[in-house]
Amino acid sequence: MTNSYRVLLYYMYVHISNYEEFAAKHLEFCKSLGLKGRILVAEEGINGTVSGTFEQTEQYMDAMKADPRFAEMVFKIDEADTHAFKKMHVRHRKELVTLRLEDDVNPLQTTGKYLEPVAFFEAMQDPDTVVIDARNDYEYDLGHFRGAIKPEIQNFRELPDWIRENKDVLEGKKILTYCTGGIRCEKFSGWLVKEGFEDVSQLHGGIVTYGKDPEVQGKLWDGQCYVFDERISVPVNRTEHVIVGKDHFTGEPCERYVNCANPACNKKIITSEENEHKYLRGCTHECRVHPRNRYVAEHQLTEEQVAQRVSELKNEVQV
Ligand SMILES: [Zn+2]
Repeated sequence: MTNSYRVLLYYMYVHISNYEEFAAKHLEFCKSLGLKGRILVAEEGINGTVSGTFEQTEQYMDAMKADPRFAEMVFKIDEADTHAFKKMHVRHRKELVTLRLEDDVNPLQTTGKYLEPVAFFEAMQDPDTVVIDARNDYEYDLGHFRGAIKPEIQNFRELPDWIRENKDVLEGKKILTYCTGGIRCEKFSGWLVKEGFEDVSQLHGGIVTYGKDPEVQGKLWDGQCYVFDERISVPVNRTEHVIVGKDHFTGEPCERYVNCANPACNKKIITSEENEHKYLRGCTHECRVHPRNRYVAEHQLTEEQVAQRVSELKNEVQV
């Protein structure tokens, strides 16, 4: 390895005035350092993940910490062989994470108790506890804490409705929430407190921090942790590896994500390389025969070849 790269993951809820202007300047700054990644800026704070060489990421963290607003920012650092992104984006939004609430939650005022990894590990094993995964279903499907509840949602903003419909499961329990780096739980746990749940805690620093803790070593985590960069997933549990991901087509244990080749679908599906080829990377029959199927274009398959492949699948259980 000639260059040692790093991936930084970080957020901070802090007031940023003129956040649109800040975003434009921050993009120039990140580009001048040679970083790549994705950063969201809002009036309520910043949330980013960037990759770069050791020096580039050091310079970035030093510069951020020199700004009094971000002096307390916690950076989660992963070693990497190369960049984890293709480009550098800094976007401004109204909210850092979108719950679409009538009254938005300000985590600086209302949020759940912070539990460090060891305390979270112990709390999970309390029989009066329910653990709620605050992420999307495709993230949960690749890996999650053992026994955690999976809200059937495709998007974070659907979470409040799901909680209201499933209130009986949570009544009188200690509630633990977790997400990748902790930012979603700041709002989600705050919202639970506002909803009247009395004992609400969140995993401080998220799964990524939990996986690095030298004492718990990621215990009670099954599978991999989905991440929003080109790595797609990172390991968490250092003591055992239980695969929970299932191949979309066969249900066999699998931890490989691809996007459906139909650009109009683009759904994330877990599947082996073998089945990706067999099913033309299409999640359904419609996606396999879609005129703009990307797998078909990449492999320059003729219409006859596609028809042939699809007809071979007819003899099997159709997915
Ligand atoms: Zn599809």
